Amino acid sequence: MIREILKFGDPVLREKCAEVTEFNKELGRLLDDMYETMQKADGIGLAAPQVGVLKRVVVIDVGKGRIELINPVITAFWGRQYEPEGCLSLEGKRGVVKRPMHVRIKAQNRFGVPVKYRGRELLARAFCHEIDHLNGILYEDKVIEWVEDN
Ligand code: ZN
Repeated sequence: MIREILKFGDPVLREKCAEVTEFNKELGRLLDDMYETMQKADGIGLAAPQVGVLKRVVVIDVGKGRIELINPVITAFWGRQYEPEGCLSLEGKRGVVKRPMHVRIKAQNRFGVPVKYRGRELLARAFCHEIDHLNGILYEDKVIEWVEDN
């Protein structure tokens, strides 16, 4: 089911999300809905607060398959990159943000099983951008320079 994506300015996007403790059907439905919503909007990442759910849940797909992250935590990062990013909650805009080039994270999958991921370049940016959402941080806070959106 497609869910409505909240836009920048909505105070919900500034809330800190709660840890997920129950890995149930409702969580599975949320993940499926988020993935469908993200795909329809042509995005590569979506965090639960963007659909109004204040839980630490993220979906990402940078073209290499679906990644589901519950309670994600960055365990290591290094390097630097300065690339433009956008957000489904702020359509029509992109801005350059400083991010680490490499990011390692740990999380849980939809069944509560611990998982680990490594990301570089675009995937590293996606991990950072989406985890920021879970803490009420929006990329506009970090933009060095706004760029034209094509
Ligand atoms: Zn975003």
